[in-house]
Amino acid sequence: MSQSKSMQVPCPKCRKSVDWQGNPHRPFCSERCRQLDLGSWADESYRVAGESVDPEALEKIIPFPGADGLAKD
Ligand SMILES: [Zn+2]
Repeated sequence: MSQSKSMQVPCPKCRKSVDWQGNPHRPFCSERCRQLDLGSWADESYRVAGESVDPEALEKIIPFPGADGLAKD
């Protein structure tokens, strides 16, 4: 019984535990999950690239630390 040390990792896509050793799709459980994950990344970057993002608008959405909370003296 020397097979008891097989390491398992959760698939980043579907959270299923999969063997690390001998898994050609690692860290994913399958080619399908790998493609899905790559697809979501590509889709996200494509969407961001397609929109014109105004840096000033982003500053309003994301408050900088200290802008409100620390100025109370
Ligand atoms: Zn998976």
